[in-house]
Amino acid sequence: GRMLANRYELLETIGQGGMAIVYKAMDTLLNRTVAVKILKQEFNENEQFIKKFRRESQAAASLSHNNIVNVFDVGVEDNIHFIVMEYVEGDTLKDYIRKKGKLNWKEAVYIAKQIAFALDHAHKNNIIHRDIKPHNIMINEETIPKVTDFGIARAITSSTITLVEETMGSVHYISPEQARGGFVDERSDLYSLGIVMYEMLTGRVPFDGDNSISVAIKHIQEEIEFLEDDLDDIPESLEDIVLKLIRKNPKERYENAKELVKDLIAVQSGEKIAGRETKKPG
Ligand code: ATP
Ligand code: MG
Ligand code: MG
Repeated sequence: GRMLANRYELLETIGQGGMAIVYKAMDTLLNRTVAVKILKQEFNENEQFIKKFRRESQAAASLSHNNIVNVFDVGVEDNIHFIVMEYVEGDTLKDYIRKKGKLNWKEAVYIAKQIAFALDHAHKNNIIHRDIKPHNIMINEETIPKVTDFGIARAITSSTITLVEETMGSVHYISPEQARGGFVDERSDLYSLGIVMYEMLTGRVPFDGDNSISVAIKHIQEEIEFLEDDLDDIPESLEDIVLKLIRKNPKERYENAKELVKDLIAVQSGEKIAGRETKKPG
């Protein structure tokens, strides 16, 4: 395959997003497999995209956590902007859910907890991810979730977003405040994680529509509910956790990822599973 920076041999395409193409590659210096994310050619002349791409690598590189894809290197060669990162063998959470239809609640809680660990770490380092969605979570072969794509991540202090940036994220997981183009903080990531949990538990996203504007408006205006059938196999305390994450008003959500982790651990240990009897199907 072609060599990049005299070091990375591009082997095959493994993924593609709005902004970039991701290759499996060999780091010939350290003799290990890596993933190389390359900014699509059409964005090469666009300063805003290059900035965004660079910000992504900086945000991710400042973090070091078992549930966050590690960034090793960045560079530009012959007008090709690239990020070198840990190669994750496995599926995105999107495909993982699709293959199973939906996840049983224990697995959903296990995955949510690891994502919450990742968010807690990012937030403590003043980084908001802002594009938490199943496509941006890799599940490796040991079923360890790894958050990737800090593409529109931002330092917490400068977090009013522009419309251009907004259209980059997936509107299905967008918080109401983000949909409005307003001030966004770490609780916006928690909302998105709530939508991801909803999808893991039900196999579907709460809102769909013909266009992204209509979906965004639903996140602002419409209440999200589980269906009766969804709740057959979900403890009431877990339903409460998801509903708390997806409150329209950020002040009514969890204050931070740590608080969420506490409740997820309680659900796992059965502590808070009280109240509702788990209904038997049929
Ligand atoms: P988006 O449109 O979500 O912003 P993007 O262009 O920023 O996407 P990524 O989400 O970073 O690109 O990557 C695109 C795809 O490449 C992912 O959905 C995943 O399938 C694959 N991928 C990304 N990073 C890795 C990695 N470290 N190891 C293996 N596969 C990866
Ligand atoms: Mg992505
Ligand atoms: Mg991205």
